[in-house]
Amino acid sequence: MYNEYMKITFFGAAQDVTGSRHLIEVEDYKLLLDCGMYQGKRSIANERNKALPFAAKDINAVILSHGHLDHCGALPILVRDGFRGRIYCTGATADVARCILEDSGALQEQIANDYNRHHKGQDRVESVYTLEDARRVFSYFEPHPYYRISHEWITLNDHIRFKLYDAGHILGSEVIVLEIKEEGITKTLAFTGDLGRVDVPILHAREYIEEDVQAMLMECTYGNSNHRPISEVKLDLQRAIEDAVRLKSKIIVPAFSLGRTQELIYILHRMTDMHEIPSIPIYIDSPLAESLTDVFSRHKEDFNDEVVRDFERLGESPFAFKNLVYTHSVEESKMINNVEGPCMIISASGMCEGGRILHHLNNGIGNPNNIILITGYQAENTLGRKIKEGASPVMILGESHEVRAKVMVLDELSAHADQASLLAYLGHTSGIEHLFLVHTEMPQATIFKNTVESLHPNIDVNIPTLGEQVEL
Ligand SMILES: [Zn+2]
Repeated sequence: MYNEYMKITFFGAAQDVTGSRHLIEVEDYKLLLDCGMYQGKRSIANERNKALPFAAKDINAVILSHGHLDHCGALPILVRDGFRGRIYCTGATADVARCILEDSGALQEQIANDYNRHHKGQDRVESVYTLEDARRVFSYFEPHPYYRISHEWITLNDHIRFKLYDAGHILGSEVIVLEIKEEGITKTLAFTGDLGRVDVPILHAREYIEEDVQAMLMECTYGNSNHRPISEVKLDLQRAIEDAVRLKSKIIVPAFSLGRTQELIYILHRMTDMHEIPSIPIYIDSPLAESLTDVFSRHKEDFNDEVVRDFERLGESPFAFKNLVYTHSVEESKMINNVEGPCMIISASGMCEGGRILHHLNNGIGNPNNIILITGYQAENTLGRKIKEGASPVMILGESHEVRAKVMVLDELSAHADQASLLAYLGHTSGIEHLFLVHTEMPQATIFKNTVESLHPNIDVNIPTLGEQVEL
């Protein structure tokens, strides 16, 4: 008789927007949904990232929702500590994750080396993981197409299978639907990963789930607010660029190397072609962004009809145009410091927690003519969040800086669905009895929970805490 419950343990992105990892246990089968790295306050990050809260060798398989670091960044630890199963995802997600993990491995080594150099005579710290650890993950990926292409479920064992829907968040991103059948009982669980907007540039819009799902783990990063229409955002962008021309400013844009950067390039390319903005030099100062742009170009099957119509048909790349410059070496990056405005500098990291963006902020944040353009979600305790919320002075690379540059926030370019869009997704999914809100901070989650409860009184809505376990 099948009387075991399915257990779900929330090991990350619980009342938080980072470190996504959820453990599903069905009898003795252990499946991990995502294996992300925790990003945020250094002391908490070190603690959370140094070891996994479960035995890696006991995990049978991983399904990865997409290649952002906060969803895949702990895979090197999982493999190093004894995981020997498969990591399932789309081919594009595997390609994206390879770039992200290599970059992360190199960065972790650099952070540890820098620390040890500055703290000579003290105990040496070990790198969270190394570049070699990151590369060891690669052979565990098992890519599968979206269900809309393969029309096939993917089988994990005699009782568990899953399918992949397009989440429309970033290249390759998936919504995962798990089906567990035993003794004539079927349970269905969906995990949204990060959910995209409906009008996402470049990629296909997210797909809705066809089957009834009893339980859903749903992200609600923007559970309390709605984005303005993209047309208004373009007007803001236009105004910023016109101001930059007039004042000879630098527009400094912290952006994730993946997703936001390619979307911005695409939008700026379109606006330039349509003569909606004056032509100014645009620097993509992130080697990772450039390699990820290559990954985009290798996955044209994921481009939407508009991209095909406007670029591919003409034999043009959406990611290259005449005033766009990709910088590679550190020297080239430093040269941008001496460039006179107007220009735009798009650089990582997206939350200003490291990378070349810090040098550009260091150089430009004190000039009242400059503009800092915030285009993505800024987690608590990050420098990006402080700048977004108007803090001044701020610490950059160990020095205090007055924030004199104008700060503009274009949240609408976010790759995440807003409240209305999340509710629409929920409305399209039938059969939900239990909803678990993940990848969210408490103020957003609370408002979203109340809204869902008033609209769908039959759904049991939970905001799980870190490490909480539920049985279904
Ligand atoms: Zn994401």
